[in-house]
Amino acid sequence: MYPDFCRFQPEPVGMGKVKERRRSSSGLSSKPDKMYTCVHCGHLSPHIYKTYALSSENLMKLLECRKCGKLVDKYIEYDVIIVAVNLLLLHQPAYRHVLLNDPFSSFWKLGIIFPFCEAYCHWCFQKGMETSPNRVDFYELENDFYRVLLRTAIGAGVFHLFILITSFIRSCLFRNMVRQNFSYMSVLKGTCMCGFYSVFELVSLVWSFKRMDSQYVFIYGIQWFTNVQSYIATTTASSPTSYLIVGIAIGLKLIALQLFDDHVPVLDF
Ligand SMILES: [Zn+2]
Repeated sequence: MYPDFCRFQPEPVGMGKVKERRRSSSGLSSKPDKMYTCVHCGHLSPHIYKTYALSSENLMKLLECRKCGKLVDKYIEYDVIIVAVNLLLLHQPAYRHVLLNDPFSSFWKLGIIFPFCEAYCHWCFQKGMETSPNRVDFYELENDFYRVLLRTAIGAGVFHLFILITSFIRSCLFRNMVRQNFSYMSVLKGTCMCGFYSVFELVSLVWSFKRMDSQYVFIYGIQWFTNVQSYIATTTASSPTSYLIVGIAIGLKLIALQLFDDHVPVLDF
């Protein structure tokens, strides 16, 4: 007679992902090389799932957290789209899954693509504000795009740097409160991933090249809230502290962008 976990036999959504991980022996080994994090309470666990060899195929059972009793990481069975929706909905467990349990090694690509999107949007909005009748078609103003790209890179650099510095200071001052598997790489993953707000700006270009104030509120609101969830997940900081730190980081980024606009001339020729 098969035990209860045989009900997993109809292959659930995202199972391929789990199987791939199983092949890489990350879920169950006698000597785990990595500690996983319970996505609900943050408690560390050596394993996420357990495999059983029955007849010709292996079966898997997700393990429960010893502290809260819930599944350590239910998201390993979920599709990427569902995880992305949960990230958008600011579900803290989804952030813990992506930033602490998932390898997510290609995060640096997001760190390049999203600033490009942001720079392109700013470039379009900047040209959308011009009213001169004899202006050149802005698609020909390539040089100005490089300037805008540099501007965006500086703003993103200031933001990433401030978040990393505060997490470093916090890890030095509050050693007892920092999680055992804390890493600066996971903090950087979070700031890179949360740059997806630029995609919303990109979509808004379909309707207009003129930026409205409500768009600023929407875009910076998304940036603030998602980065707060990311900061809480990676550093275990409290919500007020995270809101304050991310708010200051966004403020510093805006100051850096303003200083750039004031001191670097627009290449409009
Ligand atoms: Zn737990």
